Order: sequence, then C-alpha cells, then structure tokens
Amino acid sequence: MIVPMRLRPDDVGIGMTGQRARDRLIDDLRGSGIGDERVLNAIRTVPRHRFVDEALASRAYENNALPIGHGQTISQPWVVAKMTEALLNASPKRVLEIGTGSGYQAAILAALGLEVFTVERIGALLRGARKRFRALGLQVRSKHDDGRIGWPEEAPFDAIIVTAAGAALVEALLEQLAPGGVLVAPVGASGGQALLRLRKSEDGTIHSEDLGGVSFVPLLSGIVDR
Ligand code: SAH
Repeated sequence: MIVPMRLRPDDVGIGMTGQRARDRLIDDLRGSGIGDERVLNAIRTVPRHRFVDEALASRAYENNALPIGHGQTISQPWVVAKMTEALLNASPKRVLEIGTGSGYQAAILAALGLEVFTVERIGALLRGARKRFRALGLQVRSKHDDGRIGWPEEAPFDAIIVTAAGAALVEALLEQLAPGGVLVAPVGASGGQALLRLRKSEDGTIHSEDLGGVSFVPLLSGIVDR
C-alpha cells in the first residue's frame, strides 16, 4: 500500500526532480539488486528533493547520500531500499526508527502504510522532519530523545531500524522487539559497518544475518537542543 500524500505539482513534474530522474533512480536500484516492487514504488512516490536543502534538490534522485546539516546525512537511496526490504520481510505493522535525520526513511515506511515511530537526538533536524511529515500529510510519531533508550512506552515493535552506526548492538532496542520481530542496524567502527538483520524468534533467541558493508554516521549519546 502506498499512502496518499499531499504532493505539489513540482513533485511529479519534469526536470531534475521529476519523473524521468526518479525512473532512472529506480532502474539503478533494480540493477543493484533491489527487487521489492513495494519499496521501489515508495521510492518513486516520496519526493526526496523535499528532504534536502533547495540547493541540493537537483541531486536528490542521484543514488548518493547528501548532507542535511549538523554533520549528518540523508542516507543513500540504495541503503534506504535495502534496509526497508530487510524490514518488510517480517511483515511488520509497528516500526521504530532511531535517527530521524531528514525524515526520509520514516516517510518511506509511512508511505508503505506502516505505523512509524521515530527518535532523533538533534532538535533542529527533528523540527525540520516534522514539518515535512505535516506538509506531505504523513502520519509519523516522533520524539526528541537519545534513541539508544528506544521508546519503551510504545514497545513492543514488530521492526526496529537504526540509521546511525553503533560499535555494538543496543540491548534496550533488542528488548523492545516483539517475538518474531526484526531489527536492522549498521554495526561496527566509524569507517565502515556491517548491516545486520537480527530476528527474534518466538522463544526470544536472536538470529543474526550480515547483509553487507555500509557506511553510516555514528550513533551518539545524549540530546542536542538546537
Ligand atoms: N534516517 C535518516 C538518516 C539520518 S543520519 C534520514 O532518512 O534522513 C542519522 C541520524 O541519526 C542523524 O540525524 C543523527 O543525529 C541521528 N542520531 C545519531 N545518534 C542518535 C541517537 N542516539 N538517538 C537518536 N538519533 C541519533
């Protein structure tokens, strides 16, 4: 399901942010192994150029990470697609994201009809993301906090996605995962990490799978109020 969004004429128009640029990105993603049509459709529909600064809008449909200020980045579309595919595999309903950033990954999940909860530690980024959710008519619940504590009041979640890299897995997040649930997270040192998918079985044991190498900004502690 792709949830209807409030789109502006320039979100579906021609030019660097239009349909042609998006179709090229979709071809690129397909060519690099993304096969889930629901994910490809969400990426085609959600206007990524509205999640970056206007000066970068013309590059929004390139398959690259882009700066979003405060030393952070909007993830590369391929990484968003890969992580989303890895989550959908568990047929989740309620999803927790750690690291809202621009709000793009959360918007993709919301467009897929999932109930999305997202946590961001940098106040200014969260405010920007909330504005975008509102402007696009997307239902996303968000919280300004250190995501390493998760969102215990709303747990358990069918899926958890961590979009910043920790040196180790966060125990609190695994605890907030429902039996049968899936957690997708980059884990490792700052230079490069392994994208891990962990599945919690009904008896609580964890099975881990390495989905390949990725490079994320670090998962940091505490909150920033600006
Ligand atoms: N999902 C984002 C990617 C943003 S980059 C997007 O689609 O744009 C990672 C984000 O994680 C940054 O915004 C960073 O501030 C945030 N982050 C890092 N450590 C965090 C923590 N402990 N709790 C919450 N957010 C965190």
